[in-house]
Amino acid sequence: MTPMRRHRMIKIVATLGPSSSSYDMIRALFEAGADVFRLNMSHGTHDEIAARHAIIRQVEQDLGRPIAILADLQGPKLRVGVFAEGAVEVQEGQDFRLDLDDAPGDAHRVNLPHPEIFRALNENANLLVNDGKIRLRVVKCGPDFADCKVIVGGTISNRKGVNVPDVVLPLAALSPKDRTDLEFVCNLGVDWLALSFVQRASDVTEARELAQERAAILSKIEKPAAVKAFDEILEVSDGIMVARGDLGVELPVQNLPPIQKRLIRRARAVGKPVIVATQMLESMIESPVPTRAEVSDVATAIYEGADAVMLSAESAAGSYPIEAVTTMSNVAIEVESDPTYIEIIDASRKVDHTSIADGIVSAARELAEKTDIAAICCFTESGTTAYLVARERPHVPIIAITPILPVARRLSLVWGVHCETVTGDVERFKKAVINAVRVALKYGFATESDQILVTAGIPFNQPGTTNILRVAPCAEHLIMKGEPE
Ligand code: ATP
Ligand code: MG
Ligand code: MG
Repeated sequence: MTPMRRHRMIKIVATLGPSSSSYDMIRALFEAGADVFRLNMSHGTHDEIAARHAIIRQVEQDLGRPIAILADLQGPKLRVGVFAEGAVEVQEGQDFRLDLDDAPGDAHRVNLPHPEIFRALNENANLLVNDGKIRLRVVKCGPDFADCKVIVGGTISNRKGVNVPDVVLPLAALSPKDRTDLEFVCNLGVDWLALSFVQRASDVTEARELAQERAAILSKIEKPAAVKAFDEILEVSDGIMVARGDLGVELPVQNLPPIQKRLIRRARAVGKPVIVATQMLESMIESPVPTRAEVSDVATAIYEGADAVMLSAESAAGSYPIEAVTTMSNVAIEVESDPTYIEIIDASRKVDHTSIADGIVSAARELAEKTDIAAICCFTESGTTAYLVARERPHVPIIAITPILPVARRLSLVWGVHCETVTGDVERFKKAVINAVRVALKYGFATESDQILVTAGIPFNQPGTTNILRVAPCAEHLIMKGEPE
């Protein structure tokens, strides 16, 4: 049997939560197509996070494929506390109080554990709950409470986010909880660390110093300030998330599509992965089928060449996590086989070719377009070459071979990259090419009558030396038995 591979280029990130915390479910989500699992530090205890982390690593081992874990730090996000019943329904026109009392909430009040907010609030300020779905207006407020009128009602459940777009809040980049969580997840071992509410480049460098190379840093763009300072933030980040939940509350919602397009194109141009997140298949929290509009939204991100699309509550707390992943995967396979998709991807490629490595990967992509090539294979120690190949958005699969498991895991977020770890000797080029061919055949990326492209840097083990492009007919490399030169 051919071992597991994906039949699409875009990657899928699935958030884990109460609906997806068992071994069977996490494994089923991976098998359905989730390439990256997101652990949201805003929800769940350290014990729960550690348990899910251990299950993901177990699934990885059992299935023999690298899986990325993305830990999402809460950041300075305002959230309500918890309810005695887990959730309440608030009706338009009713009164609802927010206060500093940490007793569980009910239909008339709930805890908002942020004294600084009560100090900054004023009458008539709007409070938006749960990505803006519920709207409260302040009628009266004091240092430890705000009495509100419900303007738009709905269900509020435990720890839902609160935005106050009318009020400027004094917020530090990383709260004490974020620092504790960061240390906790870095010690567990995560591949990506997502930072919420980044406002400036220094927020990212601050987190990077704390993480000390233990995880790659992904900046969530969800503040108007981050949109403004995007270029500087991108420069110091390893990846980007278009976090549309809070962004769509902090800015008029019609601003989102142009921002999403711009952010994806800029991130693509510098070869850093970009995730599109929030409400992608929102109705699938409760329904086994998506709306047409949601399918179209997922498709748009794919046509734009995003590296990944993400599921939040759909997979964390919904009734149909597997169906949601399957839906994304099916949409991706369909879109990516559309000739218009290839036209759009080609037209939106914006790469400055300044180095030899850039030139080599670009030549590989062109060759793969114009001749019969089944896959592009690269060897990478740091992941850099794989990012470069992915930036080209070639029409054929990218196989990245690395001796370092954490590199392979990290790359599972990246567009089009199928990563394989090899142990032992990759020092000799001829042997390396044989390895590449074997991996291509093993996963069905190529058949014996195909040829693949291999890029590498000679001498090996020197980062940033990509200087070889080899056309390797698979059959030829199968005949060569014994110890290669
Ligand atoms: P963020 O701003 O970081 O996206 P969020 O509250 O929107 O935070 P998501 O992970 O995007 O969280 O969405 C998942 C939803 O699933 C949450 O709003 C929450 O209602 C529910 N949920 C409950 N428990 C968990 C959990 N342990 N992990 C993630 N989500 C959970
Ligand atoms: Mg958020
Ligand atoms: Mg969210």
